[in-house]
Amino acid sequence: MKNTINTRYCPVLVTTIKGIFIVAGEYWEKADKNTTVQEVQSRWVPFISEAAKNKKEWSVLSSNKKDTYTVMSMNNKWSCTCWGAKRGVCKHIKEKQKV
Ligand SMILES: [Zn+2]
Repeated sequence: MKNTINTRYCPVLVTTIKGIFIVAGEYWEKADKNTTVQEVQSRWVPFISEAAKNKKEWSVLSSNKKDTYTVMSMNNKWSCTCWGAKRGVCKHIKEKQKV
């Protein structure tokens, strides 16, 4: 059993003049000529960064109920897609910080 490939990108097989390689972004591994894409991808465990694991997202309705904004929290950094958030913390963010 070969070890898993823990990368952000799905690995693919690449044929070069130096042989066949399993490639996923920065990851390169020499493969033998019998290696199949199915085999490579069955070893793949998608890498999820700590920041992405801590990410939270909410859809909030604007006060006139015409727009929907997205409030996001990642590693305690807050953002919102409304105009108010461009100047700092908007009411949507405050609302979610209370929860
Ligand atoms: Zn907002």
